[in-house]
Amino acid sequence: MDHSTCPVCGNPLKLKFRLRFNVYQCANCGLLNSDARFEHSFQSDLESESRDIGLKKVRLKNFATIIRELQRYQGNKPNKISGLEIGSGNGWWLETCKENNIDCIGIEPERIYEHYHKENNLDIIYGFYPDVNPKKEKGYDFIIFNDVFEHIEDVNGLVENLKKDLNDDGIVIINLPMSTGFFNKMATGMHKLGFSGFLNRLWQFNFHSPHMNYFNEHNMKLLLNRHGFSTVNVLILDTLDFSSVKERIMADRGMGKLKALFLTFALTLLKPVITSSEPDVKAFFFNRQI
Ligand SMILES: [Zn+2]
Repeated sequence: MDHSTCPVCGNPLKLKFRLRFNVYQCANCGLLNSDARFEHSFQSDLESESRDIGLKKVRLKNFATIIRELQRYQGNKPNKISGLEIGSGNGWWLETCKENNIDCIGIEPERIYEHYHKENNLDIIYGFYPDVNPKKEKGYDFIIFNDVFEHIEDVNGLVENLKKDLNDDGIVIINLPMSTGFFNKMATGMHKLGFSGFLNRLWQFNFHSPHMNYFNEHNMKLLLNRHGFSTVNVLILDTLDFSSVKERIMADRGMGKLKALFLTFALTLLKPVITSSEPDVKAFFFNRQI
């Protein structure tokens, strides 16, 4: 992949940070783009079990917010709403859909949660979209990415493909971390002071599936607009559940216990600052321009 031109607006990218991988920035739209690679062996420092405890509460709360919004647009349909989730991970979104009487199929490259998927009768196909693609006649009512879009290398190719798989009034939902959020700013500040650990962690450069891009609200909308989508709404989502922040930090095997405890303490102290800063996670709703 070329790292000299911005994949969103076509302006030049310039080297911004030298971390475990390089991060480039577009001077025009602000996109942050990395030259990281997806590790197909799926080997990483991530401890999935403790990560789940830390994440589940905040994820389910955010999913409830997204479902409410989705039902506002699609809730009056004579048939059940039907969707496709790209990158289902543990399958919590599919479970939430079931509870809300929404049909949703998932595509997931990893099999580490396969047992959980089977146990909960979740409809998941293993592989990479669009290589595996459960086609639906007339297309899906929605296609959703939950913390997945930032891991995609070829964002333009992906968004083009979505058009073929959505119905005429279908919605694309992209829920992802923001480059303008508190955590990115804090990690960037630490990097400038000589501590690069946080920024490497934020980009997930130690994990098998690192971040390829960090978007802000402007360039996220711009990317989808360029492919014929308009913004329907942008929701602000929660980043942290403060009661389980310790488990989430401990999920990183590379982190010592003392450091993890200190970080938990620091984050708890910073809670008022974090909650009043620029949001770290947003969910974008797009539909096809007519
Ligand atoms: Zn750009």
